[in-house]
Amino acid sequence: MCITSDLLVKTSKGIYCPKGDFYIDPVRAVKLALISHGHADHAKSGHGHFHCTDATGTILDRRLNQSDCTTHAWEESFEIGGVKISFHPAGHVLGSAQIRLESEGKVWVFSGDYKRQADSSCEPFRLVPCDVFITEATFALPVYQWKNPEEVFTEIHEWVTQNQKQNLNSVLLAYSLGKAQRLLTGLLPYQKEPIWVHKSIEEMNQCYSKHGVQLPLTSPIKEWKKLSPYPTGQLIILPQAGLTDDLVDRLGPHRIASASGWNMVQNAKKRVGPTNGFVVSDHVDWPDLVQTIRETGAKRVWVTHGQNRSFARYLRECEGVDAIAWEDLENDARG
Ligand SMILES: [Zn+2]
Ligand SMILES: [Zn+2]
Repeated sequence: MCITSDLLVKTSKGIYCPKGDFYIDPVRAVKLALISHGHADHAKSGHGHFHCTDATGTILDRRLNQSDCTTHAWEESFEIGGVKISFHPAGHVLGSAQIRLESEGKVWVFSGDYKRQADSSCEPFRLVPCDVFITEATFALPVYQWKNPEEVFTEIHEWVTQNQKQNLNSVLLAYSLGKAQRLLTGLLPYQKEPIWVHKSIEEMNQCYSKHGVQLPLTSPIKEWKKLSPYPTGQLIILPQAGLTDDLVDRLGPHRIASASGWNMVQNAKKRVGPTNGFVVSDHVDWPDLVQTIRETGAKRVWVTHGQNRSFARYLRECEGVDAIAWEDLENDARG
């Protein structure tokens, strides 16, 4: 057991604030939580109560059927147990927040997942200066450097056009929350016909529309089955789990591609298989990750997710920051 006077500590349920008796993105149900965004690895169900941004509240109402939360506008501050808290855009998906905590003159920022590339489907990242920064490190290797997203949308459009010429349907695999809407808004300038989407994407689209995001026209994939003959030359966006055998049988001749940051390495390895992929990620790439940490001015950094040990070492040795990997933090028994 290690008792520290730090505002936040590591516990078996995740990051805990002893002073305010709350958790941040806990991995299990707790009495009181702050939730950074709507992805399942950050927003578990069953919390007694939680705080999040207005848009994340809309998303979690749909995803967890849980509306027992207090929602906040961007940068609106509130207090729990003497800790001053506010949510700041993380640029990852709609409503995604960095969480700023201030107590006794010290500022901690929990980044959640974040990116700094342009994305018209969500609020752009805003830098929050701090003393201690808790960063993700999903793509914390120099090999991960993203292209301009406009170039990727052009590549996707060209792929769809090529497939159309061969009477093939184009199936693009993407997460239902965030990636799908980013692709939809990116493809908006090219749209001629409605884009077919899975039900889980349609549900998230409704949340995005409610918060003022303009999306192209879509058709629910369940309507596909009613058509005879099945259409060709169409674009269909589905989460991986939506690509069921039953649906594959009905798609007619088609090509499948995924849209993910991991494709950077998968493509380089020239993996052969059913999917070839477009490189588009909702996380910071290597240059943006390093630059963000410099710009926060943080002297201490906790590194969570992904390449956390090697990245913490890089920060210590090359950036002169007191950095520690999540795995190397001691568990505090208070949480
Ligand atoms: Zn996420
Ligand atoms: Zn995550």
